[in-house]
Amino acid sequence: MLIVQKYGGTTVANTDLIKNVAARVAKYHAQGDQIVVVVSAMSGVTDNLIKLAKEIMPLPNEREMDMLLATGEQTTIALSAISLHALGLPAVSLTGAQAGIVTDGVHTKAKIQNITPKRIHELLNEGNVVIVAGFQGQTIEGQVTTLGRGGSDLTAIALAAALKADLCQIYTDVDGVYTADPRLVPGAKKLEEISYDEMLELASLGAKVMQSRSVEFAKKFGVVFEVRSSLNDNPGTIVKEETKNMEDIVVRGVSLDKNQAKVTLVDVPDKPGVAARVFKAIGDANINVDMIVQNISHGSGKPATDLSFTVDKADLLKAQKVIDGLKKEISFGQIIATDNIGKLSIVGVGMKSHTGVAGKLFEILAREGVNIDMISTSEIKVSVVLDLAKGEQAMKAVHEAFLGFGAME
Ligand code: ASP
Ligand code: MG
Repeated sequence: MLIVQKYGGTTVANTDLIKNVAARVAKYHAQGDQIVVVVSAMSGVTDNLIKLAKEIMPLPNEREMDMLLATGEQTTIALSAISLHALGLPAVSLTGAQAGIVTDGVHTKAKIQNITPKRIHELLNEGNVVIVAGFQGQTIEGQVTTLGRGGSDLTAIALAAALKADLCQIYTDVDGVYTADPRLVPGAKKLEEISYDEMLELASLGAKVMQSRSVEFAKKFGVVFEVRSSLNDNPGTIVKEETKNMEDIVVRGVSLDKNQAKVTLVDVPDKPGVAARVFKAIGDANINVDMIVQNISHGSGKPATDLSFTVDKADLLKAQKVIDGLKKEISFGQIIATDNIGKLSIVGVGMKSHTGVAGKLFEILAREGVNIDMISTSEIKVSVVLDLAKGEQAMKAVHEAFLGFGAME
């Protein structure tokens, strides 16, 4: 078998852990498998490199940032190769460029354009374990690039696709993907399998097991992968295209995103072009908007409405400033901004074929005395914005009702 194994930053955080990784690789190698190992930078290293650069200036040149950040993974590949040598195994480390990973030239968030894994194949055929630096590539002109934070996942998935690997394993410090964050919900269970779309929804909802872009890539190229722990031999969670029987389970997971904030414009004139003006300005300021809710006109007199939306907490002040700047032009009543909100979501492909899911969610929240602030839905997700203080209590109750012991399907 040809196996791609990716080891995340926490699994290579020190030399003992790197030796632990080498021991696992050696076990597979002893079974006669061909192994390509993709590693991240040691935990905290990338953050620290960014910090160093910012100590010098707030907005460092992006080409130089790539030059800097690529060193994080380069450290880990060499230490991993040395650890395999110490076990008597032939191993060769490769930078992204040496592995044949070609990207576009958008520094710090480059996209992979193609992979020519000729060198990897040659080294594998000579009996080597091949260790590839995650998160980095090279433009055709030879410039070093990086793939955006968490980009080692993408390297692994893309290599698995290019090498037509039999198996792609993503090693991390948790046992897999859970029905909810086990630190918040003691009854959370590890999932045996999850569809790409469910995984994407959960990832974007704050269950950050993997970089979203890499899951999208896996979906596009049909790369089946397993998320599992590097610290034990428990089977992890298989991520794959949804199958018919996955729909039997209505709710796959519950998540709580505490990282959002809400802005409400009160008494906005209800006429064409207002929403366009507001969200153009927000977009121009590079602020990501998640939920948007607008009511129909209310009151007598000139038609007016309330307009609410959510943004990342970190962007709240910026969003407020942008909206303030529109006050003259749009003449709304007032702005209400708060970051005391949480977004609770239930996700599952089974929602496509089951009815009453939203109703049941709202009933549970009512029973808990939790007020719903905003609601949004997609084919496989229902999200509600609620008071942050009630978030964890609500999440536990919702998890228990949909996924707890004895929950009805
Ligand atoms: N070292 C990079 C980061 O911290 C890439 C990765 O870990 O996947 O974002
Ligand atoms: Mg990572």
